[in-house]
Amino acid sequence: MLQRFGKEKLEELARKHLWVYFSQLTSDARAPVIVRGEGCHIFDAEGKRYLDGLAGLFLINVGHGRKELADAAYEQMTELHYFPLWNYTHPRAIELAAKLAELAPGDLNRVFFTTGGGEAVETAWKLARQYFRATGQPERHKIIARQLAYHGTTMGALAITGVEAIKTPYEPLTPGAFHARHTSAYRAEAQGEALGKLCADDIERVIVEQGPETVAAVILEPVQNSGGCFPPPPGYFRRVREICDRHGVLLVSDEVICAFGRLGHMLACDRYDYVPDIITCAKGLTSGYAPVGAAIVSDRLVEPFIDSDLMFLHGMTYGGHPVGCAVALANIDILESEDLPGRVRKHEGAFLQELRTLEDLPIVGDIRGAGYFYGIELVKDKETQGRFSQKECNRLLRDFLSHRLFELGLICRAEDKGEPVVQLAPPLVAGPEEFKEIGAILRQALSEAWDVMN
Ligand code: PLP
Repeated sequence: MLQRFGKEKLEELARKHLWVYFSQLTSDARAPVIVRGEGCHIFDAEGKRYLDGLAGLFLINVGHGRKELADAAYEQMTELHYFPLWNYTHPRAIELAAKLAELAPGDLNRVFFTTGGGEAVETAWKLARQYFRATGQPERHKIIARQLAYHGTTMGALAITGVEAIKTPYEPLTPGAFHARHTSAYRAEAQGEALGKLCADDIERVIVEQGPETVAAVILEPVQNSGGCFPPPPGYFRRVREICDRHGVLLVSDEVICAFGRLGHMLACDRYDYVPDIITCAKGLTSGYAPVGAAIVSDRLVEPFIDSDLMFLHGMTYGGHPVGCAVALANIDILESEDLPGRVRKHEGAFLQELRTLEDLPIVGDIRGAGYFYGIELVKDKETQGRFSQKECNRLLRDFLSHRLFELGLICRAEDKGEPVVQLAPPLVAGPEEFKEIGAILRQALSEAWDVMN
């Protein structure tokens, strides 16, 4: 596309007019202007190339610049660019719903489209509440998530989110969301199955504390992003499923990041062998080529709405947008025909091994994750697992590491919603060559970071 302005002018206009998410609007703010993408790389306004180690925002699964997806969008736009799912349907929404039902486990056969992940989470909570009202348990309205987990920024999803710092400015929050412990094994009092039991039992503790008859759902990511890629300990999901069933509580698998190959499976619950009642997804569903999200719902939850007066009073103008659905279908075609989930399973060991070469660095405390989704927790003292103070975290992450990694040509996330972590989630087309590049840049930046902090 023809660029209207040069780099300086774009930066000036951004400072004046653009509200960049989660950043301070300072007069010297300079968010990089990214103009092009190709495969695993992006290019800034000066033509400098960066390795996209975060797949945009954990979503460009099939890689940048896929013409097939542009063609799918073009064809759909010229055929039927928009028609609503309010009272009407269109072929692409039907086809995509059927495809997602085919991919989903168990009896998750009904698809409610949204425009993104937060809306899918809102949808899950609203549906859970209405389902219980419809089936004679109107008290059940609460939802339990995990500490530090991120589920979105709209008011319902924000209440569910377990990151206190991004919630307090918006209080009072939507009531009814509660939090159990996350599954980080680093510094935990137990490991393996024992940790899985402890963490699952903490969910039961919250259910019991709240009164099981008031709890509608538990919502969990297969691997928790926020906090730095916490995988489930062995046996965790089996036990969580049992706990939910014992108390009549629904299990929502929030797969906004983890689905569509990121963990080596089309749907991430398959990796950990559990069947949820609802799957929320977005991001990798279109690899970011169009905004589409979905809640994939079990037949059991849809039952009260079938051939009855009951209606799910929920929807959004752009939900199930024909162009988005066409892109999602083409994206799933690529994931399947190139077997990108299989590629992740094949190469994830090599990726982890490359990251583990960094374990000799004094600042590297823990490396964890699964598939193409890893976090590196940074520590002040490796022996004692000593933490950086908040002030030190600011210096480490915001004053140094974020800029330095970018300067060295690697897009990744350096942040501290919990402890300071560097997170990696490259496009699924990445392989050993990209892992080497990621490893080399991380080694340099983390070594320098240690010197800066000491
Ligand atoms: N749920 C999870 C697990 C997420 O990671 C995110 C976003 O990163 C969301 C929900 C919210 O999605 P969105 O930003 O599309 O609203």
